[in-house]
Amino acid sequence: MMKNKKNIAVIGSTGSIGTQTLEIIKENKDVFNVLVLSANKNSDLLIKQSIMFLPKYVVVTDEESYKKVVFGLKKHEIKVLFGESGLCEVVSLKEVDVVLMAIVGFAGLLPTVFALKNKKKVALANKECLVVGGHIIKKIQKDFGGEIIPVDSEHSAIFQCLRGEKKSSIKKIILTASGGPFRGFELKDLQKVSLEKALKHPNWSMGKKITIDSATLMNKALEIIEAKWLFGLNANEIDFIVHPQSIVHSFVEFKDSSIIAQMGVPSMKLPIHYALFFPERKLSSFVSFDFAKNPFMSFEKINTDVFVSLKRVYEVMEKGGNFPCVFNSANESAVDLFLNKKIKFLDIYKIIDLCLENINFVANPSIEDLIKTDFEVKNFLKNFK
Ligand code: NAD
Ligand code: MG
Repeated sequence: MMKNKKNIAVIGSTGSIGTQTLEIIKENKDVFNVLVLSANKNSDLLIKQSIMFLPKYVVVTDEESYKKVVFGLKKHEIKVLFGESGLCEVVSLKEVDVVLMAIVGFAGLLPTVFALKNKKKVALANKECLVVGGHIIKKIQKDFGGEIIPVDSEHSAIFQCLRGEKKSSIKKIILTASGGPFRGFELKDLQKVSLEKALKHPNWSMGKKITIDSATLMNKALEIIEAKWLFGLNANEIDFIVHPQSIVHSFVEFKDSSIIAQMGVPSMKLPIHYALFFPERKLSSFVSFDFAKNPFMSFEKINTDVFVSLKRVYEVMEKGGNFPCVFNSANESAVDLFLNKKIKFLDIYKIIDLCLENINFVANPSIEDLIKTDFEVKNFLKNFK
């Protein structure tokens, strides 16, 4: 019946995760209803999606695009809201059952906080909010009772491996990494890599920012901090390994040395489907993984003297405070500069280190402190050449 449909707010609906989420919702129209759609700049796609799904609310965070969307949807009974305040308003609505949070970057923090304060089930793709403000998000979850179902494939894997297990049974978790387009490269090889090569991920088609993060292995570094908060682990309980085929999405090793893995074809639709239906497991239209046709699976170490992000992340976690935020915001700015061809690939690491050396340390940052830190970092790098 209509009334039992789950109302979904798809935040970041025009992105890679957002569009795949809408494809799953479309295939399961009898179960899900799109209540909210949102985007930053891609007004044409947002208008198209809105006409197709007829949500009650649409939120646009970029001003020019907002005007275009208001105009484009004027014939429809859809409320078009503006900005971060609009996002915080819609994720708090009583009618929302699940918030699918697929904004990229620091901008995901505040709407996630508002969703959890309103006890929502959050299917969380935006890892950056946990990286910068994990301590705040966990406290809000404890005080208000919202729920996070991870969408990031590694964390969905670990979440699935841990069902029915006690946290005290875990020895460690092992995050898998494809290794990205520059797997096995030495520092001298990385000096000359182009933007075009960095944007060619071997296994996954994703948004531009996370694609560059996969090339620098900053993505894995951010995922280590994400895992710390999601599963309440210490840094020495979180390990990583390269697995170029991306079939094993991650492992949990238990105290008795038994290891459980979650596997499947490399598609983000799998963890999105799992999170949307959770706690049920429902039939999907996705292909099965064929072991006989793909008998080869390999694992290898990462040279962290080359991909230094994976060394730095443990130092950043040890220091804590606003350092994970500096680490993340510096990376966001550096990736932006790299995407605009203003810097070379290895400058991304240099910029992150420069920010860690120059931005003031705050021991126990509030949300306001984090917003200030993010601004400080982005301001510090504004004129970087
Ligand atoms: P994307 O760039 O393809 O899409 C981002 C979406 O967020 C778009 O709809 C965009 O309009 C919106 N957006 C961007 N900036 C915004 C802002 N300032 N305010 C409000 N909305 C804004 O990104 P993506 O690849 O879909 O990734 C989204 C998140 O999911 C990221 O945090 C990423 O790390 C995570 N993730 C993605 C994948 C993947 O396969 N793409 C896998 C795992 C995790
Ligand atoms: Mg991932």
